[in-house]
Amino acid sequence: MVRTRFAPSPSGFLHIGGVRTALYSWLFARNKGGQFLLRIEDTDVERSTEESIEAILAGMQWLGLDHDEDIVYQSKRFDIYQEKAEGLIQADHAYKCYCTPDELEKMRAEQTKKGENPRYDGRCRDKGDQDGEFVIRFKSNAKEDITISDSVYGQITVHKDELDDFIILRSNKAPTYHFAVVIDDNESGITHILRGDDHLKNSAKHLQLMDAMDYKKPEFIHLPMILGPDGSRLSKRHGAMNILEYKDQGFLPEAMLNYLVRLGWSFGDQEVFNIQEMIDAFDVKNINKSSAKFDLEKLEWLNQQHLSNSDNSELTEFLKLNTSLEELPSAKTIDSFVHAYKPRVNNLNELVGYFNTLYAENFTVEKSAAEKFLKQEILVPFQDLLEMLEQGEWNAESINQSVKSTCEKHGIGFGKIGQPLRVAITGGTESPSIDLTMTLLEREIVISRVKKAIEYISNQ
Ligand code: GLU
Repeated sequence: MVRTRFAPSPSGFLHIGGVRTALYSWLFARNKGGQFLLRIEDTDVERSTEESIEAILAGMQWLGLDHDEDIVYQSKRFDIYQEKAEGLIQADHAYKCYCTPDELEKMRAEQTKKGENPRYDGRCRDKGDQDGEFVIRFKSNAKEDITISDSVYGQITVHKDELDDFIILRSNKAPTYHFAVVIDDNESGITHILRGDDHLKNSAKHLQLMDAMDYKKPEFIHLPMILGPDGSRLSKRHGAMNILEYKDQGFLPEAMLNYLVRLGWSFGDQEVFNIQEMIDAFDVKNINKSSAKFDLEKLEWLNQQHLSNSDNSELTEFLKLNTSLEELPSAKTIDSFVHAYKPRVNNLNELVGYFNTLYAENFTVEKSAAEKFLKQEILVPFQDLLEMLEQGEWNAESINQSVKSTCEKHGIGFGKIGQPLRVAITGGTESPSIDLTMTLLEREIVISRVKKAIEYISNQ
């Protein structure tokens, strides 16, 4: 059974790169009918916050990246790490190190002076128990270089000189990342580790620990990092980094996931995927080795695609929850509105915005649009149109006929009346076709808005 995990450190918001890691782990597990676990790596008591944990959980929930089993919190497992560290000392795989920060600093300075790579020289290996503060170090007896088999990067070799006696338990009894991650992945039965390639070399340390602890080795799948469009490391300059900001900006979770799945993975030239398609198509062998570039425009385009493909009912629910209107139009009208507007908007906020304006109890026209389009020359055509709108059926066809007749009567093109009419009815300059838009409102409302426009023009 495949078991993957996402293991964020809760010291900030849920980052876009983290979400991609979570998504790939989730897709991999779901594709294989396996399990996906969530572990909060909150060993750094100073930097971990409750707020950050909540932001991570909210982000995962918004995106629908559901996890199996209970969340593992490393902060609740300090006794276990302590016990394991002592076990390693007993087995002569670890030892207490009493070096002070000053001493370590001096050692590094000397090594650097001699042109050597700074590394812990193992001076406490045989000291045994002493008084004073200590950390526990792993005894790295690497006699050979260590090779990591990675599903994305292939065979990566870490030279044995780079592997020194690293710390596994700090003086305050907190485990280091390396130690906790190895123990927890083993105890959770993780079969495949997907994580950012900044951890690639750490895997050499992890392999050493796994050998010492007689743990079964998982497969490694390291993911290339995400860059900004200019090729530098992705940062705030390139767009929001916090996943929940995208929620606030009106992105759909599935558009976000679709965007992130393609950021470093491909399936032929398919761009648009729904969740099930992502699950079905996901295969580690199609992860790109090179870093992916973040492209906000593509994300926006995908959002548009997913909005057009969304179920009306989902969007209706969203509107109902987010509108500022006190009284809602009928269910049928909302459905027609959603149907007409969803292919035209870039995000959910725009959809809500159009909805609030179109059905506003105290409807107003944008000042600049009124000034530009509600002009004297349209006054008489509007008056004639008003008469026609008061009669006949209330559907797109007959509305269209009325507008056409008005144009013919005054010898003007459709464009001359269409845009002023749009402004008069919707309050702005963007909407679906004007006849369709008018059917989204009741006849009396349209008539009162045309009258209001006539009054406005007359007062100019
Ligand atoms: N807490 C680590 C991080 O956020 C997890 C790395 C891993 O997946 O092993 O980078």
